[in-house]
Amino acid sequence: MKNDYVPIANFNELAGWKEIFPAGAVCEGGTAQLFNTGDWRTMIPSYAEEKCKHCMLCVPACPDASIPIKDGKRQDFDFKHCKGCGVCYKVCPFGAITLGKEDK
Ligand code: SF4
Ligand code: SF4
Repeated sequence: MKNDYVPIANFNELAGWKEIFPAGAVCEGGTAQLFNTGDWRTMIPSYAEEKCKHCMLCVPACPDASIPIKDGKRQDFDFKHCKGCGVCYKVCPFGAITLGKEDK
């Protein structure tokens, strides 16, 4: 079968459904980085650095890999990709993360 998918870099977000490749197939890896899924957010986490123990429990719990680590310490959220699901807020045992409604 001919593989004639559209490279993600050429994908037209305004294309109609008849122009989209079959079944929304994912044809390359790492494409999630190209979409600012944080735009969907209605709730937003915030991070109190002074309360954080850098236990890293929140990092693997985030379904969107939106909690970066640098030099063994967690950094502030990647708000381009954080969808505001609140999982990190639920798992933090030290109250270092709060969740509130996002004003847009
Ligand atoms: S709110 Fe959800 S998506 Fe955002 S950083 Fe926390 S776990 Fe990840
Ligand atoms: S779970 Fe809480 S204390 Fe642990 S790294 Fe995340 S924010 Fe910091």
